[in-house]
Parts: sequence; C-alpha cells; structure tokens
Amino acid sequence: MSGSVEFHASVDGLPAYVPGASGGSPGIFKLSSNEVPDPPAPAVITAIADAGADANRYPEMFGDTLVAALAGHHGLEKENILIGNGSVSLLELIIRSVAGAGEEVVYSWRSFEAYPILVQVTGAESVQVPNTPSGEHDLPAMARAVTERTKAVIVCTPNNPTGAALSHAQVAEFLAQIPPHVLVLLDEAYVHFDRSAEAVDSFALLREYKNLIVLRTFSKAYGLAGLRVGYAMGRPRLIAPLQSASTPFGVNALAQRAARAALESPEHMERAVAAVVDERTRVVGRLREQGWDVGDPQGNFYWLPIGDKSQAYASEALTHGFTARPFPEGVRVSIAEPEGNDLALGLAGKWAKELGL
Ligand SMILES: *Cc1c(COP(=O)(O)O)cnc(C)c1O
Repeated sequence: MSGSVEFHASVDGLPAYVPGASGGSPGIFKLSSNEVPDPPAPAVITAIADAGADANRYPEMFGDTLVAALAGHHGLEKENILIGNGSVSLLELIIRSVAGAGEEVVYSWRSFEAYPILVQVTGAESVQVPNTPSGEHDLPAMARAVTERTKAVIVCTPNNPTGAALSHAQVAEFLAQIPPHVLVLLDEAYVHFDRSAEAVDSFALLREYKNLIVLRTFSKAYGLAGLRVGYAMGRPRLIAPLQSASTPFGVNALAQRAARAALESPEHMERAVAAVVDERTRVVGRLREQGWDVGDPQGNFYWLPIGDKSQAYASEALTHGFTARPFPEGVRVSIAEPEGNDLALGLAGKWAKELGL
C-alpha cells in the first residue's frame, strides 16, 4: 500500500509557536515567558492538593462554580462567562467558531504570536496591520482593514510583545467604527499590570457593544500559567453557542479549584502585581537613563526594538544568566525577580553603549 496521511492545507506549513525557554535551568533567570516570579498563594497550593484527592472524578463540565465566582467578582451574570483551558484555547474556539476559508481576521502586528497560528488552522486569512513606530496598535488602520470578508478583529492591550497600552477612548472610538456583525476580541491578558492614566474599562464596553468578547487569564497576574485557565466575557448570545462548541470538561479540576482559591485570596495577586509594577518602574527608569527608548510598557515586560540584532541579544542574555525572547522586530524581556532584572539591566547597559544610544 502506498500513500500517507495528508493534513489539511491549513495545518501543513503552520508557523511554529516558539515558547520562552522552558524548565528552570539552574542559575538562569527566566525572563522569556512573561510569568510572574512568585509562586501561587499557600491557599491556592492547598486547593490544588485537595482537588488532587478527587482526581478520579470528572470536573464540572463547564466549571459552574468557578463561573459563578467570576460572575460575582466582576458583577456579571453566569451567562456572560465561559472558561477555557487557558485563554489561548478560548481564542482558538472563538476564531474557529466565526471564521473559515475565504474569511478574514484582522489584528495588529507584531502582537501575540498565537494569533497567526490560530487563524491559519481555521483556513481563514490573517490581515496583519502594522503597529505604529512606538509599538501601538494603529486602530484607525485596523478599522479601515475591515472588509465584507472580516469575521473578527483582535485587539491586545497591553500589547504582547511591545507593552503599549491603548486608552479607553481609543478602544471606544474603534468599537464605534466596527460593524456590529464583526466580532471584536479584546485580549486583556496583562490588564492587571496596566497603570496607564486612561486604562480601558472593558466592562463599560461590554455593556455597550454586543459584538465584544473580553478575554482574561489566570496565567499572568494570578501566577497560574502551569494550570491553564482563562475566561471569556460577553453577551449570552455570544457565550452560549461558544459553550456548546467548546471541549466538554475542557478545564481540569485542579485548575478550576485553584482559580477559585486565587479569586478568594486577591491580596496575594495584588501584592505580586504591585511588586512587578514597582520593579517595572525601577527597570524602565534605568533603561531610559541608559539611553533606551522603551515607550511606556504596561505589561510585565519591556521591549527593546533592535530589529535583526534581537537574536544576538537573546543569545548573549544566556551568558549573562537570563533568558529573553527575540522576535524579528525586537527583544522582549519579562520583569522578574530583582536579581534577574539587574542581570538584564547589565546587558542592556552594555548594549546601549555599543549601540551608541
Ligand atoms: C500570555 C498571554 C495569554 C494567556 O494565555 P493562556 O492561554 O491563558 O496562558 C493570552 N494573550 C496574550 C496576549 C498573552 O500574552
């Protein structure tokens, strides 16, 4: 017999998702995956252990208890919320539920590298609108990129990897220009770190726009990246079909319990986020003194726009005791423990001199 399994054209030739270096290399600080350095709260770790004792049982199919807790937390109804195995899994579900062959999904570029992969597997086409020179979404250009083939637009603020945050007025004005049959996905993975003066109030926007879905995650501020849990918020008219199309039992029991415990001890998250924001202020101040133009990063990372030198920078970072994440346009460095941040500042200072900044 001859022949071999053939993958759908949308799967053959997919770009590989390049994760930040995984695992803890001894003595190397990991500044390549935008994780928070603090372990989860003791109550969260206890909840995970307790849930482990019941691992012979299926979890709640759609995580009703966690959904109710999130609804209470945000002042929404349970019908407004869908949980998923990380917000990336929700992005995947949502995009494949609205877009397919011959259709388009618009997003800014460079942005989160999962977007092109998730769009391509649906058979739809990515329409990538270049960031402004300062790494922001060019929202007017994104609105103009919407055609009759557009099914969804993704907005990421603060943007991964450039760190730029959009203002509430910018996003509100943008939404007003998008036709109501085009889904807008607002990816707020880094919302807790956003200290910009006019940060987006996504709940006000959810009340106003029936074509809006807001995505959040427990992976970043809540420090639960290893457990994989995120959630989508929107009108029941959007959430109900997505729930029907989602993987049954898609979020495991340990993740559900841990996320509930994390919501119940917000002080831990708030402390961890405050520590990151303080470190970010210190690090960004130093980078500016060194001569870097780092913009106003509002995530738990900063962006050095050094173009094709990024790979060399990331390689040299390893010899300085930390990992960084290179992209074709620049290098992204996470805010970590002060000691790791200092190592990263050491390399940034050396490069600033070499580049004559
Ligand atoms: C980290 C990140 C996420 C979160 O992904 P999870 O699947 O929830 O871990 C989503 N969007 C962006 C832009 C991110 O950087």
